[in-house]
Amino acid sequence: MKIAIGRSLITGIIIAITGVLAIVLISIRQSARLQDTSAIIRHSHQVITQTREVFEFSIRYELNVKNFLLTGEPSFLDSVNGEAILLQARIRDLKELTHDNARQQQRIDSLILYIDKNRVLLNEAIGLSRGKDFQGAARLVAGGAAVGYSRQVQLLIDRMEAEENELLGQRRRMSQGVASGLQGVLWALIAAVAILTVVIFFKVKVDLDKEKKAKEQLNHFNQELEGQVRIQTRELVESESKYKSLFYKSPLPKWIYDQETLQFMEVNEAAVRHYGYSEEDFRRMLITDIRPPEDEADLLLDVQAARSAFEESRHGVWRHIKKSGDIIFVEVTAHPIEYDGRKARMVVVNDITERIASEGLLERLNEDLRKRAAELAVSNAELERFAYIASHDLQEPLRMVSSFLQLLQKRYRDQLDEKAGQYIHYAVDGAERMKALILDLLEYSRVGTGKEAWGPVDTGEVMTEVGAIFRENIISTRARVEIGELPVVHGDKVQLAQLLQNLVGNALKYHSSAPPVIRIRAAEQEEGWLFSVADNGIGIDPLFFEKIFIIFQRLHNKSDYSGTGIGLAICKKIVERHGGKIWVESAPEKGSTFYFMIPKMHL
Ligand code: ADP
Repeated sequence: MKIAIGRSLITGIIIAITGVLAIVLISIRQSARLQDTSAIIRHSHQVITQTREVFEFSIRYELNVKNFLLTGEPSFLDSVNGEAILLQARIRDLKELTHDNARQQQRIDSLILYIDKNRVLLNEAIGLSRGKDFQGAARLVAGGAAVGYSRQVQLLIDRMEAEENELLGQRRRMSQGVASGLQGVLWALIAAVAILTVVIFFKVKVDLDKEKKAKEQLNHFNQELEGQVRIQTRELVESESKYKSLFYKSPLPKWIYDQETLQFMEVNEAAVRHYGYSEEDFRRMLITDIRPPEDEADLLLDVQAARSAFEESRHGVWRHIKKSGDIIFVEVTAHPIEYDGRKARMVVVNDITERIASEGLLERLNEDLRKRAAELAVSNAELERFAYIASHDLQEPLRMVSSFLQLLQKRYRDQLDEKAGQYIHYAVDGAERMKALILDLLEYSRVGTGKEAWGPVDTGEVMTEVGAIFRENIISTRARVEIGELPVVHGDKVQLAQLLQNLVGNALKYHSSAPPVIRIRAAEQEEGWLFSVADNGIGIDPLFFEKIFIIFQRLHNKSDYSGTGIGLAICKKIVERHGGKIWVESAPEKGSTFYFMIPKMHL
């Protein structure tokens, strides 16, 4: 804006100065012209005066001669010669004055001629008068020639005067024209300069206003900028101090090293603490000094690679030596930075010695666990085999005990007293119970682990078969069994049938005084199919929710409800074999709902 004002001002001043100079030049030129015209006017006046003087001298000369002729007084002739000389001098001057005017020159020549002729005539008359021929002299003077000469002189003087007056008039007009022309030009110039000054004034004023506005805007902008700069500076200072504290106060060891010389440039407090070297020690050291000598070759190769790819960050696991000589494993990240005008790297170190050690430990623990799991599987299999063999092999002696007891009872009934008969009855009953237990145990141990029989199982179909098994029971108890839509699941059909059979059997068995109502349903969930077998029976106290799934655990007497307490244990085993879980929701007298989840695909 300043430049614009400067420019317009300078342009204005240049134009004004040019205008003034033009005025001055024109004035000088016109005043020179004025001077010229006034010189010419003066010259015209001079010519007129000289012409008159010539005329006067010639008249006076003639008058003196005539006075002498009239009076005979010689004193009249005293001045005649002087006047004749003066007349000649005046004529010479006149001729000189009008040398640039050919017409006047001609007239002067004629004038000289007639004056001379007149003088000759008058001299002749003087001569006659001196010779006392007064009449002859008077004739000569009053004669036609003398009168003609005088008239010619008079005529020539008049013409000369008239010409000079005419010239004078012309020159005066010219001078006036020049003067008024000059005035006009001057006024025009003054007006132009004045208009220009006004225009410049307004232009400068507009520019100044604009400049003022721009200055105000600039000031405003500057203030905003200053504010921003202040904020940014503060942020910069804060971020620098943050950065510094991030570096110096970081819990991880950090340092900056020169990539060319490999010298430590900066180290943080954690590095000093962790490695045991003081900051000064570090500054005197190279990064190779904290490596075991056998790692140095690898390090130098890495440094070389880092130099050729300066922009890349580098990561790696290295071994470092502390001042104490302890070797540690570290995870190192080195970022490229410019530091003190040097190509450098900022290194962040994470000591992973303990992690490596504990990873080794974990690996060992896992290995132990794997071993124990395998051992457990072996012992489980052995246990199942044992249970099977035991229950299978026990059957035979048990059958023998029971058969002989029955034989004893039959054959010797009459010989034995009532008590002995009662004992034998208990023994037979115990043997029967033992047989039932052994059979249950055998069944439990048969829930094998093999998956040979696995495949898609339509549980709806299975449930129909189960319903058929309980047909009579259902009729006798006047039970109502509602079967919902049941899915096809992946599993062992025989085992799933056994599972449903046990649950439906229990629901029928543990009914209350009301006829049993049993609902079998399945709902699809994210993990798998959630089956439920709900009844309106006697219900179970929540205290026993866990216990009932344990083998041979029962809540009732054999006399109240028959059974050995293996049914739910078998259910649990089957469900778990299918990768699911089983649980119960119930309250005494409120019926029970047994839930089990079969995952959609358990491999
Ligand atoms: P058992 O029926 O041979 O006793 P189970 O393992 O099938 O053995 O059942 C264990 C116990 O759980 C039963 O003795 C019974 O007390 C309780 N129980 C099982 N099913 C039900 C049910 N539907 N309603 C009430 N109690 C039940």
